[in-house]
Amino acid sequence: MPIKNLVDRLAADYPNIQFKPGEHFMWSASEKTVYYNARDIGTETFLLHELAHALLDHSDYDLDVELVRKESEAWDMTVTKLADKYGVDVSEKEAEMALESYRHWLFRRSKCPDCGTNGLQTKNTHYKCIACGCSWRANDARVCELKRYRVTA
Ligand SMILES: [Zn+2]
Ligand SMILES: [Zn+2]
Repeated sequence: MPIKNLVDRLAADYPNIQFKPGEHFMWSASEKTVYYNARDIGTETFLLHELAHALLDHSDYDLDVELVRKESEAWDMTVTKLADKYGVDVSEKEAEMALESYRHWLFRRSKCPDCGTNGLQTKNTHYKCIACGCSWRANDARVCELKRYRVTA
């Protein structure tokens, strides 16, 4: 099924949610918008996954512990409800792998750029290393790319 068809169906079923093409798959609670990358592989799966975040009313800013729980909730809804409803083939294994790589990504983003110790999250995208005192910012957890910026206070 071309991604456009599924987007049209979702847009008709959920008039309160906007669906817009973007660079990444992402749910923005403040904009009530699901962004999707039509060029990515497995787009339908991720489109449904982002919809699950929307339906579960997940907010934009959470600490890592919350993120993992919400990510797992969203995958659960994707597999048990949305996949069937929209006739998209999503296996539990696929969902587990996505969740695993997300966990891994969170783990890496919390690593100190100076000494490699896992830091403490102080705010949504701010971390502090207890070993060397270094502070850094990671990019938004809604976007799955790893970037770390050192904070020069
Ligand atoms: Zn997610
Ligand atoms: Zn450090």
